[in-house]
Amino acid sequence: MRVVRIDLHSRLPNTRLFPDVNVYLLIDSGEALLVDAGYGFQSSTSRIMNAIKRYHAEVSGIVITHGHVDHFSSAGRLRRRLDCTVMAHGEDASFIEEPASLLSSDPFFGHDAKTRALGYVALKLLAGLSPCTVDKRLKDGDEIRVGNAKLRVLHTPGHTKGHICLYEPERGLLFTGDHVISAGLSWILPTRGDVKEYVQSLKRLLKLRISLILPGHGRPLRNCRSVLLDRLARVSSRERSILRLLRKGPMDEDGLLKGLWYGGNPLNRLISRPVLRAYLKKLLDERRIAIIRAGNRTFYTLS
Ligand SMILES: [Zn+2]
Ligand SMILES: [Zn+2]
Repeated sequence: MRVVRIDLHSRLPNTRLFPDVNVYLLIDSGEALLVDAGYGFQSSTSRIMNAIKRYHAEVSGIVITHGHVDHFSSAGRLRRRLDCTVMAHGEDASFIEEPASLLSSDPFFGHDAKTRALGYVALKLLAGLSPCTVDKRLKDGDEIRVGNAKLRVLHTPGHTKGHICLYEPERGLLFTGDHVISAGLSWILPTRGDVKEYVQSLKRLLKLRISLILPGHGRPLRNCRSVLLDRLARVSSRERSILRLLRKGPMDEDGLLKGLWYGGNPLNRLISRPVLRAYLKKLLDERRIAIIRAGNRTFYTLS
């Protein structure tokens, strides 16, 4: 099976908010499959179509790793041009079919109708957001064929509820979407993300024989076992930072944010509150911390 990496850019410089994203074209025995569809700009679709033409590939399907705009926004246009089947996990399919529903569960845009409408316009402008019909709802264990090659669907919730990785056992290839990206830890934001599930999904991957990780963002990664262990260690390190601060005494969100890992960079400051909430949820679920309420303020304390 031949794997072609097509990297696509957003309208902004390459930042973690709208980063360059990878679409993979998999070709075997004249058949082809796309893993993800990238941003929804005309230029993104053209780059993908050019690669398909260059390799004389007959694309029969597009597998979307998860319902985030940087991964699915070209899918609708590609589906029409290629007359192919779009597949995604059932838990994320509705976000791809009705992206407006994305925004009601978004930590930045979800507050009220006006902010949601604004968010939709922003995502259209910056990511080319566009909906797409999902023809097939995938589930864990499904097999997808490309020519003679077989890919196994692995449900890896955590980054989103319906996130999937694709595993090709013959060569040990793992297409990880945003579950594992090359630049450190991917964001896990409530309500669609869950740190506990993310950890469980990483541990599950440790049981596989993987020779190459092909992420949704950044370059392919070798030394796969150490990459997975590194991501687990990063989660633990964030948890330890929170627990260390709480050893000084109960703290509210603002207190924790001041003492935590997202210092000066304005983008990091914007993202830090929802990220912190995702980690606090895991620590609360595991009863490692508890909540104290004083008036209308909420403090966190060690259990
Ligand atoms: Zn994502
Ligand atoms: Zn992404």
